[in-house]
Amino acid sequence: MQEHVKIQQISKYFGENKAIDNINIDIGKGEFFTLLGPSGCGKTTLLRTLAGFYQQEEGNLYFGDQHMNNVPAHKRNIGMVFQNYAIFPHLTVFENVAYGLKARKVKKDEIKARVTEALDMVELAHLKDRQPSQLSGGQQQRVALARAIVIYPGLLLMDEPLSNLDAKLRIKMREDIRSLQKRLNITTIYVTHDQEEALAVSDRIAVMSEGKVQQIGRPHEIYLSPANKFVANFIGTTNFLDADLEVVDAENKAIVTVEGVTLGTNLLENVNGKAIYSIRPEQLKIYETSEARPALVDGEIIDATFLGESVVYKIRFNSGTVISAHEHSIRYNMLRKTGDRIKVDLNPDEAVIFDESGEEVLN
Ligand code: ATP
Repeated sequence: MQEHVKIQQISKYFGENKAIDNINIDIGKGEFFTLLGPSGCGKTTLLRTLAGFYQQEEGNLYFGDQHMNNVPAHKRNIGMVFQNYAIFPHLTVFENVAYGLKARKVKKDEIKARVTEALDMVELAHLKDRQPSQLSGGQQQRVALARAIVIYPGLLLMDEPLSNLDAKLRIKMREDIRSLQKRLNITTIYVTHDQEEALAVSDRIAVMSEGKVQQIGRPHEIYLSPANKFVANFIGTTNFLDADLEVVDAENKAIVTVEGVTLGTNLLENVNGKAIYSIRPEQLKIYETSEARPALVDGEIIDATFLGESVVYKIRFNSGTVISAHEHSIRYNMLRKTGDRIKVDLNPDEAVIFDESGEEVLN
């Protein structure tokens, strides 16, 4: 049976160091939930606490209605997959996958049926008699996955399972993991520091930094509506520009000025002062200098990188600020060149404006 996981105000210390700090997350049955953040932010510590390998100092953990704080790891009915595979080198593929069932004293016939079923699911049935040393990294990780699902876990925990694989295989494996997880409908908590991987596989993501959850949301919410400057910067790429806000009209709306250009009056209520204007490279629009529409910023192309599907331009404004902008490279002969003068639409409809500290969204 798949679990509903409730993480309530959980904190975990290592000595003085608070590795995870008051975490609150509710994960639905069958959900693919990802913990995403830079190295050292506490992802692994949280996962190991859920598994029962660490005991939290504060807070409560529930699987469904069951209070789990004092349930030992081996009684939590969890399947785990780690970065380093952690499969037994002296056992065959079949024996590796059968291991957890033998330990649970499952009957021989049933072990055979369930191991065969699990190996089928990860497309390894034909290699069941091989030793791990005769398998590729991707195949070894499939063994680890089969071993985790064969016990019919209520919860599947995965800690950077794809980190040791090459880039192409990582993409194939993440698609396979995602489709297997949906087919089996196992509640899954997945740890990664790779934002693209997180966006690709997850139903929802918790972005973490310094032991705290910065934002929880669906992939597009986190990408398009980051809750603070840290999240905007960690997910994808963005440009941060200095902005000035000034309330001038009778309706208390602030006007936003960036690079000396007034961008609009209907964005913000009643805020004055300095702010941070965040806009992603693909949200900017580049125009010729002859373009007459208002609220464009003058600039110069100082670098152009052709990436096949798109071109990345570095643009310097007259203030000296340098931003990054993407354009689709539909026609090669339309590429802009270093030294070209252009105008940029900073697209206030798509921008996210943070307060000066970067902690809060203003628009
Ligand atoms: P990574 O992506 O590098 O694995 P992470 O986000 O999983 O990082 P954790 O391994 O959970 O981060 O570490 C969180 C914090 O707790 C770090 O400051 C780390 O140094 C500390 N920490 C982790 N494990 C221990 C431990 N066993 N003893 C002491 N401190 C630890």
